Amino acid sequence: MVTYDYIITGLGCAGLSLIYYLLDSPLKDKKILLIDNSSKTENDRTWCYWAEKPFEIHPKNSPLIFWDTIKIAESKESVSAYLEDLKYFHIKSSDFYKEVIDKIKKHPNVSFLKDSVEQIQSSGKSIVQVKTSNSGIFRSELLFNSIPMSSYLNESPILKQVFVGWNVSSNQESFDPSAVSLMHFVSDQKRKTDFFYILPYTAKHALIEYTLYTKNEIDMKVMESKLSEYLENELGLTDYQIHFKESGSIPMSTLGFPPPTDPNIIHLGTLAGCSKPSTGYTFYDIQKHCRSIVSELSFTGKVSSRIWDRKKRFGFYDNIILNIAVKWPASLPDIFRKMFAKNQAKLVLKFLHEETSLWEEIKLLSRMNYSVFIKSLLNYEKH
Ligand SMILES: Cc1cc2nc3c(=O)[nH]c(=O)nc-3n(C[C@H](O)[C@H](O)[C@H](O)COP(=O)(O)OP(=O)(O)OC[C@H]3O[C@@H](n4cnc5c(N)ncnc54)[C@H](O)[C@@H]3O)c2cc1C
Repeated sequence: MVTYDYIITGLGCAGLSLIYYLLDSPLKDKKILLIDNSSKTENDRTWCYWAEKPFEIHPKNSPLIFWDTIKIAESKESVSAYLEDLKYFHIKSSDFYKEVIDKIKKHPNVSFLKDSVEQIQSSGKSIVQVKTSNSGIFRSELLFNSIPMSSYLNESPILKQVFVGWNVSSNQESFDPSAVSLMHFVSDQKRKTDFFYILPYTAKHALIEYTLYTKNEIDMKVMESKLSEYLENELGLTDYQIHFKESGSIPMSTLGFPPPTDPNIIHLGTLAGCSKPSTGYTFYDIQKHCRSIVSELSFTGKVSSRIWDRKKRFGFYDNIILNIAVKWPASLPDIFRKMFAKNQAKLVLKFLHEETSLWEEIKLLSRMNYSVFIKSLLNYEKH
């Protein structure tokens, strides 16, 4: 049986990002097997991230879409924030999949197997073994896994960001293409956090998502009815076309998934804890994580388990926000709105990327409403 240098199981955002960086590194000639149960041709999600310029991995096979202003709105008040030298970039997942898969095809040392992974386990002697549904067993020295632990996510009592999005167009000019609507809070938020997110491509075409923070299983039909009500009641749209739908459930927790049991198994993506607990943004951290794995592997031949250690104080800030989301959701819209109203958007976004200094964090947080933070601190709990 062939033993691969590396096997990557799960070829979504993280698995494909890792192979992309590996193929640009001194490790590009390693014998690598990629396994996913989908052929990765479908457009199944839309990623956005903020940065000064598009990442190297940003697909070049389609026009660059970005915005330079974001909005947060409640029923009565709203704030528009200009991002200065940052941009809010947009990626259609099918463009991303195609570009990375085209790159893979140029490397005969990399094979792609379409099959379902049933089990991953150590087989001793520093070898990891992967059992697939139809193609048997494969072995490698290192295994990178990003297959979501869906059952763990569904069964554990953690907060999740559940959302459904429609890409819609109509003949009416209903959207403001100059700004992304990051959060539009419409309901009173007394018992839950829910909001609408709009990526306006033109005045007549946008991706609109309804997002709910919840610990429970949610019926997608109920979520979709919220979207159609919003289109009709808030935007006055009754006659529109839906081009595609996307949906998801992102963990909002600092507790993390169970770590791998073998040092030769490395978790990637959401599974590795790359989803920012208080916001759900994941794409940016996946890039940081995959680049640091490739860099360490190139220099030392190993990947240490500490490679994705977040600074503890950011976990603490996340828990303060998650505590508010769980216990006093009515305060959350005000927190997000004020954070952008009272600070430069650039600083807030740097903070959300966990790249601020302690001094910058003190400045940013000192401009916020203390009372709800103190309440959250006095009732501090890990979520
Ligand atoms: C609709 C949607 C929109 C999002 N938008 C944003 C955004 O704008 N910005 C942001 O930062 N984050 C966003 N996220 C969050 C996050 O960036 C994505 O979920 C991202 O795809 C996570 O990457 P991943 O590699 O961890 O998981 P995935 O991309 O989900 O990859 C997991 C892979 O595992 C494969 N797989 C599953 N089970 C098996 C099996 N048994 N055998 C073999 N293969 C298997 C799947 O086919 C998939 O390819 C979004 C998430 C969703 C769902």
